[in-house]
Amino acid sequence: MNYNAWFECENGCKYPLTEIIYRCKNCNGLLQVKHDMDVLKQRSAEDWKCLFEKRYMRTQYPYGSGVWGKKELVCPTVEDNNIISMYEGGTNLFWAERFGSQLGVSDLWIKQCGNSHTGSFKDLGMTVLVSMVNQIISESGNIRAVMCASTGDTSASLAAYASAAGIPAIILLPKEKVTREQLIQPIANGALTLSLETDFDGCMAIVQELAARKDFYLANSINSLRIEGQKTISIEIVQQFDWEVPDWVIIPGGNLGNVSALGLGFLLMLELGIIDKLPRIACAQAQRANPLYRSYQTGFTEFKAITAQSTQATAIQIGNPVSIHRAVRVLKQFDGIVDQASEEELADAAARADRTGLFNCPHTGVALAVLIKMIERKQIQKDDRVIVISTATGLKFPEFKVAYHNVVRDQPPPRYHNTPLELEAEYDNVLKNIDKHLSV
Ligand SMILES: *Cc1c(COP(=O)(O)O)cnc(C)c1O
Ligand SMILES: [Zn+2]
Repeated sequence: MNYNAWFECENGCKYPLTEIIYRCKNCNGLLQVKHDMDVLKQRSAEDWKCLFEKRYMRTQYPYGSGVWGKKELVCPTVEDNNIISMYEGGTNLFWAERFGSQLGVSDLWIKQCGNSHTGSFKDLGMTVLVSMVNQIISESGNIRAVMCASTGDTSASLAAYASAAGIPAIILLPKEKVTREQLIQPIANGALTLSLETDFDGCMAIVQELAARKDFYLANSINSLRIEGQKTISIEIVQQFDWEVPDWVIIPGGNLGNVSALGLGFLLMLELGIIDKLPRIACAQAQRANPLYRSYQTGFTEFKAITAQSTQATAIQIGNPVSIHRAVRVLKQFDGIVDQASEEELADAAARADRTGLFNCPHTGVALAVLIKMIERKQIQKDDRVIVISTATGLKFPEFKVAYHNVVRDQPPPRYHNTPLELEAEYDNVLKNIDKHLSV
């Protein structure tokens, strides 16, 4: 089969995926990856499902990867020997039975996208992007380095894949706005790590200027190759439910690439007949960085970039999201909603869910807080199948957890805090404290 894909703008201008380009030369619009749908439709929906099942989490490189197992739908033009894969995807769909029953819903699932090589869903898109850079270089393209601005997870992912490929990476981070764990990831992978005295939006402005030079390759989600990899999240969710479509998907949103990607994944499956309906999508924002939520309040008629205030959900502390138009289009097609969570709400939601076996990052906390509100509003019914996208592992955000559980004198403790007891190593005293604890 001659599978094919290319970059295309809203007005139909086309560019090869090996061209170093992020916006249309004619209309300056964002580019999207388009596939030759006629060729994809030559295979029946049943045959697609069979093929995906046969490859899923098997060993044949690179097709065991959750992304490359769907290669024809993601990026068919990259040669297998140029693919840099770390077996991304295939993440656990956690049945949140206990948490759900506390909230009054029985079909609640957490898609653990953070159980991945660098600890966030960013790996899904980065494998596609870095593989394409490898392809360009192999066709004697002149790329000196790949680069990105980041709130901490994109940079970790880019650094890992670039170093596996042997391509230099340049990382622009807002100083003191990423965790120590996130900062050490690109450093360990040998990336040139620049810590800038600004916020994410400030880093993004500089990296876009650098991207005007054709010898640096931009790895931010303005580059829609990443969206192609991330859209496999929706395909994988449906696959994990034996090709049934859930009722709701709740996604934390910052730059809004991921909510766009999940939407595109569902739309592609619908067009190929793999599914016959769409779920509804809810995008969850931190109240302190909520430009999409504000736009939603106007029925999406207005959008204003804002200066994001500091939030514990640092990876979504973004005031001027690059994929705003893509996201609004997707939300309209999915009868979508946007809601927000305060700092207290996101921390309580993450901690409350942690008590039922999870270990949530703050961004997942934002999505869980929105879930709770939607259930309270009866927007989500008790039998609805709901998927919450968990975007990173909580292990990257220890300070968020430590701060929550660390009770401060003269301040009321958070609702779900748990404080360790410091005791002398003496048997009777230890037992007395255990008894006291278990009897409350
Ligand atoms: C990148 C990221 C997000 C936000 O995704 P966008 O595509 O920017 O909306 C949310 N959570 C985590 C942990 C992230 O790394
Ligand atoms: Zn154009």
